[in-house]
Amino acid sequence: MNISSIEAIPLKIPFTHGGPSIAWAGRDWQFLEIVLVRVETDCGLVGWGEAFSYNCQKAVMAMIENSAPPVLVGKAVSDREQIMHELQVGMHLWGRYGISMFAISGIDIALWDLAAKAANQSLGQMLGRHKKVLPAYASLLKYRDPEVVAEQTAHAIEKGYGLIKLHEAAPEPVKAAREIAGNTVPIMLDVNCAWSISEAKQVVPQLIDCNLHWLEEPVWPPENFAALGTLRAEYGIPIAAGENMCTHWQFDSMFGGDAVDFAQPSVTKVGGITEFLKVIELCRKRKISVAPHSPYFGPGFLATAQLISAMDEDVPFERFYMTPEASLFGTAVDPVNGNLQVPDGPGLGLDPDPHVIQEYRLSN
Ligand SMILES: [Mg+2]
Repeated sequence: MNISSIEAIPLKIPFTHGGPSIAWAGRDWQFLEIVLVRVETDCGLVGWGEAFSYNCQKAVMAMIENSAPPVLVGKAVSDREQIMHELQVGMHLWGRYGISMFAISGIDIALWDLAAKAANQSLGQMLGRHKKVLPAYASLLKYRDPEVVAEQTAHAIEKGYGLIKLHEAAPEPVKAAREIAGNTVPIMLDVNCAWSISEAKQVVPQLIDCNLHWLEEPVWPPENFAALGTLRAEYGIPIAAGENMCTHWQFDSMFGGDAVDFAQPSVTKVGGITEFLKVIELCRKRKISVAPHSPYFGPGFLATAQLISAMDEDVPFERFYMTPEASLFGTAVDPVNGNLQVPDGPGLGLDPDPHVIQEYRLSN
């Protein structure tokens, strides 16, 4: 079975999230930007991938369209390992991070989808599935206002979520969430690198009573692993990081610094399923927990679910707490009582809805 074509498809889907609009990187953020990767074979089988592309859709599209066809077209799907090696070597001069690795991730996911479809198994089954139902955590967006944070936390708990993650940088909203959640619901805090190390040392002591399950990406710059190690050692607070790291090599550098308790590979960024599996292996050797990053709704969402389904450990699934106007996979992306059912179909479990693709596709 050989690859006959590869296509990058840009989608833009509006969402709501129960709070005032969010400014991100200088833009009002109201739309999910998705780049689907569609790989077709000479026998008609189609594989789907997703490349991370929030706020960088055109760049990711260009990277896939310019770099992938000469390496992929005509090759056997079973040569995935060699194809991914060639892509990583051929594209490394544009950086083994960011846009080029987002593109590689989307392509890799599509090739694994094809491999599992060819084997007539779900990806999770192919990797040795252990679970069909995954506990999901509600990953709330950034609200800043303690009242709104408390309201959204209560809303998520009412919907059955047993774990909550906040995206805040000030202590007040975190305290408000803890107060409304009571003492038994684990709360994680994602700072998105907003603090300097001295700011972190001012705020973190104020959060000790909130009993955070983990503190995610607390300081700028993210590669200051020594600062993460200092926060861990000084305050005994579990640290999570890694959503913007690409390849297992970058995770290996972070692990060398005793910087984290939770590693957060993001399948649409890290280099796809191939690199994600290598990160899991490193985590096993180092006895570091895996907490995948998955605030997206395309094939990367399903790939993450399939990967977690094949892991022995209890690993929560990150569900961005927003409501997209349309779903590529119907209700499969909606946890029920805080639990996500892993779809059973061949490959990633489901193919994206062609009507949703048609309606939300941008002209490229
Ligand atoms: Mg994060």
